[in-house]
Amino acid sequence: TLLWTMVTFWLISILLSYVLARLNMRPILRSWQRQREFVANAAHELRTPLTVIQNKLEMMLTRPNDKVMDQTEQITMSLSEVRRLNSLTSDLLLLARSDSDMTQIRTESVAMAPFLETVIQPYSEIADSQDKHFEENIQLDRDLVIDKQRIHQLIVIFLDNALKYTEAGATISFSARVVNNRWELQVKDTGIGIKDQDKAHVFDRFYRVDKSRSRATGGNGLGLSIAKWIIDSHRGKVTVNDNHPQGTIFTISFPLTKPKK
Ligand code: ADP
Repeated sequence: TLLWTMVTFWLISILLSYVLARLNMRPILRSWQRQREFVANAAHELRTPLTVIQNKLEMMLTRPNDKVMDQTEQITMSLSEVRRLNSLTSDLLLLARSDSDMTQIRTESVAMAPFLETVIQPYSEIADSQDKHFEENIQLDRDLVIDKQRIHQLIVIFLDNALKYTEAGATISFSARVVNNRWELQVKDTGIGIKDQDKAHVFDRFYRVDKSRSRATGGNGLGLSIAKWIIDSHRGKVTVNDNHPQGTIFTISFPLTKPKK
């Protein structure tokens, strides 16, 4: 009987290792790990504005006789942190939903030239107010099947960044055209640029080259990861290059065919 027990154990262990190998646990473990990191980073990002708001409210409570007018600085700072929390939670929600395929792409046929004009128009005004030059070159005179809201969001992410990471006097250019049977958007700036070692990471969640600069300009390190999700869902590609003599060029291209649902 001892021999039989040993043989049975041996057979079971062989069977178990075969099943585990077939299940291929590595990608599952990696995805768990990524999910854990996402939750930890999200909690950390939420804590910073919450701590500021808590401190401001506590300070206000220590001076109950002050009028609202005397507390404007605390109120303004709290409000700006509440706004940050608001945009952070909607970004987190979008990414969490995209992970579980709950965010659907809603495509429709869109006349691209007028659509792109309306999306970028406010940016030429913002650039003007910041003493920056804004150039546009839209050569996409056709209808394409896209998720209008998401492509709008995508362009806003790149243009917001172009404005955030440039100084006064900089030039920001937006172009749209058809190249090699693909339609292409390009956002160029003459700003601080992205070092080669950071280029591969800027699309990672929460990745920021300069955390304090990003935070000061309202960034949370999620913009480009949302952009990447929108690009993937339209079967697109994105590249990051240096703009000479300085700045960054983001080139995003999509097939001219219908995007996947
Ligand atoms: P953030 O909210 O910090 O801007 P993003 O995901 O949009 O987050 O971008 C990630 C990081 O990539 C930024 O923190 C910044 O360091 C870098 N980055 C993005 N766009 C540019 C740009 N146009 N010029 C220089 N750096 C950029």
